[in-house]
Amino acid sequence: MSQSPLTFQEIETEVQEFEAAERKRLGLEPCPAPQWHDRNPQQFERAQRKETTILAGGLTIAQDALLQAALEAIGYRIEVLPCPDTAALHYGKEFGNRGQCNPTYFTVGNLIKRLIHLRDRDGVAATEIAQRYVFLTAGACGPCRFGTYATEYRKALRDAGFDGFRVLLFQQQGGFKQATGPEAGLEMNPRFFAQVVKSLIAGDVLNAISYRIRPYEICVGDTDRAIERSKEILCEAFRTGRSIVKALLRCRHQFEAIKVNWLQAKPKVMIIGEFWAMTTEGDGNHHLQRFLESQGAEVDIQLVTAWLLYLIWQNQRDTRRRLDLREQDATGKGLAGRDGVRLLRQLWVAERLLRLIFHTFARAIGLRRYHLPDMEELATVAQPFYDVELRGGEGHMEVGKLIQAVTLNKAHMVLSVKPFGCMPSSGVSDGIQSAVLNRLPQAIFCPVETSGDGEVNFQSRVLMYLFKARRRAKEEFEMALQRRRLDLNEASGLMSRLQKRATHYPAHVVAGSAANRVCTLR
Ligand code: SF4
Repeated sequence: MSQSPLTFQEIETEVQEFEAAERKRLGLEPCPAPQWHDRNPQQFERAQRKETTILAGGLTIAQDALLQAALEAIGYRIEVLPCPDTAALHYGKEFGNRGQCNPTYFTVGNLIKRLIHLRDRDGVAATEIAQRYVFLTAGACGPCRFGTYATEYRKALRDAGFDGFRVLLFQQQGGFKQATGPEAGLEMNPRFFAQVVKSLIAGDVLNAISYRIRPYEICVGDTDRAIERSKEILCEAFRTGRSIVKALLRCRHQFEAIKVNWLQAKPKVMIIGEFWAMTTEGDGNHHLQRFLESQGAEVDIQLVTAWLLYLIWQNQRDTRRRLDLREQDATGKGLAGRDGVRLLRQLWVAERLLRLIFHTFARAIGLRRYHLPDMEELATVAQPFYDVELRGGEGHMEVGKLIQAVTLNKAHMVLSVKPFGCMPSSGVSDGIQSAVLNRLPQAIFCPVETSGDGEVNFQSRVLMYLFKARRRAKEEFEMALQRRRLDLNEASGLMSRLQKRATHYPAHVVAGSAANRVCTLR
């Protein structure tokens, strides 16, 4: 007699029993995971300061080094983490939550990589690491993932075996409000802020001048050597409390000694996009700046000072709009019980001071004709396309920068870097910028995504756009020579000794630096 076929239910039961038996055999029985809560360990007291190393990093290589020297000068033990690489990304992906943006993975992975080295290579116990080290990072309550970074870090650290490791936040918008008291390990007082701001701006002028000169140096490596020497000079000045302006004047001699050939038609590429992705100088953006230079471009980078100006601008705008609300405005950044007009005055002074320090430092190092953005102007040009009230990432700045780059002829090509998984940058560079480009069809705009892999795809996309930009720079240069009725030798002969200097920078007429030199020859 033939057996009756199994019913669906019987098959299901059999499969479930088999699965349960296999799970038991392989040790994969489900065990309910306890809900994780962020205990937010932050305790760091003044008495611990001498024995505690603050791990920091995440800006440009020059700025990280200067920040270390500046904070060591006021009594902190600082260790700068190296520029995040692909190995750091892998650690970040292994221990971080799914669906985060790229900078989170790179940053937390870089931290975990260092801690694992300490534990496994140097033999320091995880508990001792948690006692002797803290991580200092920027915090914000922006609407993008940035607002949850610190918690994500702590969760990843726990999973990597460093439960209880302290992540300290330096709120970008916090100012002296976050002053942590004289007994706190990290005392965010005016001295602390002054050191941070000075080191960031000194790093900015150092970066800006080197990106201007390096593409035109005759002897490859001269600019990098000047940067290294300048970093030593500046670090020493920070450590010994000497004048930074005098140190920058000494750095200027390093740059002035570089021999350059200014009359090379190079495409100028402005890098914009998400803050971390456009600032990092390693695997996080596939060494974008160096790659562009290796392909014959001059890179126009964005400075951290501009970001600080953006933070001040946000505060100014919010304060002005809140002035009428005063009595009902008791929440968060509300003005209830506060003098809004006085706050506006303080912000005005902060902005002026920032610009003054920047221009003083720039002048000392020989960075001429560098214009920091006018934040109101940037907001005005961006507003028709992107509401300036929308915050997160670079906000409207990305839009404003593209418009200004094209309409004011600041660069031949604009390259927008957005990290994989970035909410604000994806919306802007893929969505809003299309509307901008409809109005500005002459723009060469290259949005690229960095995911940590696919370097070849990333670079070939950049090269496609760079081809057009290179042609445009060449045409512009030839037109400048024609207008002046000169050939290359005659133009070179007309350049004075001063104009041949590495720190000389011509007035702005067109986008290309070489064409500008020809246009401004006397
Ligand atoms: S701007 Fe983008 S990449 Fe940067 S933190 Fe926010 S979501 Fe992440």
